[in-house]
Amino acid sequence: MNKELCLVAACPVTVHSRGLCAKHYKAAQRIIDRTELTWDEVVQSGLCKPTKPKGRTHSRFSRRLLEIAHKLHPQSSPETTEANV
Ligand SMILES: [Zn+2]
Repeated sequence: MNKELCLVAACPVTVHSRGLCAKHYKAAQRIIDRTELTWDEVVQSGLCKPTKPKGRTHSRFSRRLLEIAHKLHPQSSPETTEANV
C-alpha cells in the first residue's frame, strides 16, 4: 500500500482522497459547497490532486483543465492550449 501523506504542509496524516487527509478533504469540500470554487480549480491551484490518477490519462486530464481554464478565464488563455500539453 502506498502511504502517501496529506498534501497540506505539516499535516502528517495519510491521504484519504485527492491527495488530502479526511480532515482537509472535508474542509476543502465545505469551502467548495459554500463558494463557487470547484475541485478542478483546487487541483489547478496545486492544493489537491485529481481524484483517480488512472495510469496515463494525463493528456485527457490536461485537456479538461484547459477547457475549464478557458471557460473561467477566456481572456487570459491564448491559443496555445493543445500545443503545450
Ligand atoms: Zn491533512
